[in-house]
Amino acid sequence: MRDDTIFAVASGAGRAAVAVLRVSGADSGRQLTALAGPLPPARRASVRRLRHAAMELDRALVLWLPGPGSYTGEDCAELHLHGGRAVLEGVAEALVALGARPAEPGEFTRRAFLNGRMDLVAAEAVADLVEAETSAQLAQALRQMDGALGAIYRDWAERLRVLLAEQEALIDFPDEDLPADMAARGDADMAALRREIAAHLDDGRRGERLREGLVFAMTGPPNVGKSSLVNALAEREVAIVAATPGTTRDALETRVVLGGVPVTLVDTAGLRETEDAVEAEGVRRARVRAADADLVVEVASADFPASWPGVSRPSLPPAAATDGRDTPSHNGGTVAVFNKIDLGADVPAGAIGVSARTGAGLDALRDRLVAAARALTERAGPPPLTRARHRAALQETESHLARATDADLPELMAEDLRLALRALGRITGQVGVEDLLDTIFSRFCIGK
Ligand code: GDP
Repeated sequence: MRDDTIFAVASGAGRAAVAVLRVSGADSGRQLTALAGPLPPARRASVRRLRHAAMELDRALVLWLPGPGSYTGEDCAELHLHGGRAVLEGVAEALVALGARPAEPGEFTRRAFLNGRMDLVAAEAVADLVEAETSAQLAQALRQMDGALGAIYRDWAERLRVLLAEQEALIDFPDEDLPADMAARGDADMAALRREIAAHLDDGRRGERLREGLVFAMTGPPNVGKSSLVNALAEREVAIVAATPGTTRDALETRVVLGGVPVTLVDTAGLRETEDAVEAEGVRRARVRAADADLVVEVASADFPASWPGVSRPSLPPAAATDGRDTPSHNGGTVAVFNKIDLGADVPAGAIGVSARTGAGLDALRDRLVAAARALTERAGPPPLTRARHRAALQETESHLARATDADLPELMAEDLRLALRALGRITGQVGVEDLLDTIFSRFCIGK
């Protein structure tokens, strides 16, 4: 690993009263001394004048965080500077002159992983925590960062290691007095492990959906009030509301938070046959989006009663054609909404009657959507899978385990168990992840 000393502004970009600059690496103690005088006591905040080349740079709160108990495991320093640009540039220039270099995205967390301060699953949770937009995403990232998810994967890896050791014992000492029930116990353990992995994989993508956010498609014929409802739900004017049919040509996307879950409301273009090429393209995209959505909100209205239910129902393309996911689309099903009840028509059975104009029924609609968002993302019990990377590795683990179960020679079984263990180890970073690290850490922001 590189042993140079890196620095980055860890607080957000833009003008701020205070900016936090972190330094990590073997030389950070010397550099801090050069800037701020003798090292302050470890992990105690002290106010210091920062100077370099006879220039006063700032008066700052300074922290000395010696390794190995620091975030990265290396000697670290933190400077809480005044947030102005001249201050930041002055201190950055001074650090470069003292031999440090600006950090790459994710480099602090990468060093933390390489120094054994956290496993890859926890490191990925750090990125999720930085990006969390809602309370439910925050809770999931914190839980993952605490190691609950990594602990499950490490437990499985440990059990696989035991199974592998037993197979190797059978190969190496076939004639010795091995416990008579060892093979039977091994089979039972392997079957239990496979069941647990399968249950973890078969989670309706709840953790991934929460991390990525949900998509709810608003469908229905033109002019029933889809854009108006999206606006009402988002409580701001985003979609174009117009009296002429077909103006909402493209699928318009609005981000809202429903029950702590980020949801993109897709306001589909009027789903109808059309001669207009641009509008036809909008309709095509809307159909794809609707087929791919986690929930379809099918809208009809009092002045379009004949259009619903059934008549305008979009003929959705098969999910497989638009979506490679292994679970079926719109698990949340369909919510039927009957808009413009202020015009005074009866609300069809099973539909939620609303008026985007008067606001009537909107609370009931919002409650129904919150319930759907929660049902799609919440799960009692152990923490859920949160990433496609983990899912792929677990599927590989499971397929090697399936082969191991069917293997008729101990040598073959041992080989399949070894491959299963390797696939599983890639999740937490216990084995062969060098090639993965760039992909994982390059998505981080600078300073993490
Ligand atoms: P979209 O094509 O389905 O997106 O429909 P819009 O949201 O553009 O609305 C079409 C028309 O219906 C606009 O003139 C809206 O002002 C009107 N509209 C929307 N919601 C209501 C409602 O609850 N009551 C009444 N009376 N008119 C509405």
